[in-house]
Amino acid sequence: MISKRMEPLVNNNSVIRAMFEEGKQMADKYGAENVFDFSIGNPNVPAPKEVQEAIIDIVTNEDPVKVHGYMNNAGFPETRAAVAGNLNRRFGTKFTEKNIIMTVGAGSALNVLLKTMLEPGEEVIAFAPYFVEYGNYVANYDGKLVVISPNPEGGFMPKLDEFEGAITPKTKAVIINNPNNPTGVIYPESVIKEMAAIMEKKQKEYGSVIYLISDEPYRELAYDGAEVPYLTKYYDNTLVGYSYSKSLSLPGERIGYVVIPDESDNAEEFIDAATIANRVGGFVNAPSLIQLVIARCVDAKCDVAYYERNGKTLYDGLTEAGFTCTKPQGAFYMWMKSPIPDEKAFVAAGKKYNLLMVPGSSFACPGYVRISYCVSYDQIERSLPKFKELAKEYF
Ligand code: PLP
Repeated sequence: MISKRMEPLVNNNSVIRAMFEEGKQMADKYGAENVFDFSIGNPNVPAPKEVQEAIIDIVTNEDPVKVHGYMNNAGFPETRAAVAGNLNRRFGTKFTEKNIIMTVGAGSALNVLLKTMLEPGEEVIAFAPYFVEYGNYVANYDGKLVVISPNPEGGFMPKLDEFEGAITPKTKAVIINNPNNPTGVIYPESVIKEMAAIMEKKQKEYGSVIYLISDEPYRELAYDGAEVPYLTKYYDNTLVGYSYSKSLSLPGERIGYVVIPDESDNAEEFIDAATIANRVGGFVNAPSLIQLVIARCVDAKCDVAYYERNGKTLYDGLTEAGFTCTKPQGAFYMWMKSPIPDEKAFVAAGKKYNLLMVPGSSFACPGYVRISYCVSYDQIERSLPKFKELAKEYF
């Protein structure tokens, strides 16, 4: 017998995951080359060669007791020092290994942070459209997700007036995701500065601590040299959740980290508590072999140009066919307006052409669809005639 708490989770099981499964079934039925699965953000670019070489070398030459053993729940000191050094070189920060806790991807980074900070009933603000798991993660610790409505007229930037009005004495955190899943937009420095000013003001007004959680698995996936501001520089109570799932194409390896800067409220106590949250949450520590790989490959580069090219070809093809899309500035998602208000019916229509898209209602933003283009370039090219046929049903 399952708990009452699980029932809604089972009933609303992730549409994206369900589509991923459906895509695999369709591939068996029609042949993989005839199915255009744009459902999940599973990178198509292989992990950099350094990663493969490091795995082989570590497994061959390092002490297996160390490679596969437990370590401090925060992670190997050399891995954490390597991460801190990498961030300091790139963003002029002053982190040490103490500020870094290795986690089981960004999913567990967010869970560790929320477990560490949330009292039951406290509120966490997110901006629609947002990564659907935020609601589940916040609910894991009896928090309440407060959603700011989408801003299609303003290029899907955060609606700052609504944001300011939504902050209450119960607000414990604000989550932002930059570059953004699902819109592909990047919040520029000017927006971050405005958000930080609002949060500073509200902290003073309520005498409270409001954390800014920067969820950034797509940080390196920024196109055309676009800057992605490093948020700890703008607001002291910033905490970062990072993942190598997308940047190094390692989603199945489950590796990421949190950053808890010295400037954040009661940092030492928070770091100790978050390390314990890693353990008692059942993660215990991030996977050991891949932590050692990260220590060596922290400067490895991801093939941004590959995704940029996919995004450009898809954007040009879709807009030529008559669709309206948000031009991606980063990540690997195309955010497209459904030609009819009921985007689920549009997604169903796409399936007739073996096109798999995710309805925007999965991101609290009906009327839109997400097309995940971390796929082969060939899939993009061959899908465009199908999108054109689909467009003819509407335009
Ligand atoms: N946050 C966002 C915005 C994501 O898109 C994802 C995964 O797609 C995650 C967090 C979770 O990433 P991970 O695989 O590292 O748990």
